[in-house]
Amino acid sequence: MILTRLRCAKVLQLTLAVIKPDAVAQPLLLEALHRKILENNFIIVRRKDLIWKRSDSERFYAEHKGRFFYQRLVEFMSSGPMRAYILAKEDAVSHWRELMGPTKVYRARYTSPKTIRAQYGLTDTRNTTHGSDSSESAEREIAFFFPEFSVQHWLEMEEPHFRMGH
Ligand code: UDP
Repeated sequence: MILTRLRCAKVLQLTLAVIKPDAVAQPLLLEALHRKILENNFIIVRRKDLIWKRSDSERFYAEHKGRFFYQRLVEFMSSGPMRAYILAKEDAVSHWRELMGPTKVYRARYTSPKTIRAQYGLTDTRNTTHGSDSSESAEREIAFFFPEFSVQHWLEMEEPHFRMGH
């Protein structure tokens, strides 16, 4: 009974996960990453395949403007299809980032060889996946990728349903 109550009291957090063009271009990898999401007990709240215009890429990564990798990054992120997910889980933001591993692929291979970026990343830019780095950026990034999605509505109407069934 106590366990059940504790389990019901857990609050699900949302995060934005993106499979970048380098990974979407490899169908078996795309499938493996989708499976990884499910195997790690994330709830797939929404999912969308999309292609960015260069201007979308520039807007999303505006904070990196001026850095040495910026041009390469915006070009890459608008070079082909991507898959975006809104994922829910307790501590979803940090769990997804743990699964992805460090930004830089060669560092990831050295420090966290079992992570997605270590295993499948091609370069520091073509590093397979994106994940929000905080709850606040998750909300902002979800709005960027899924402007039709209301976090408030989800919290009121969908989250309690998933939480109770968890
Ligand atoms: N990036 C890059 N070179 C770098 C650092 C970052 O090409 O030296 C790219 C990489 O694709 C990364 C993205 O810029 O995922 C955003 O960088 P950020 O520091 O936000 O890392 P993330 O949160 O994606 O790990």
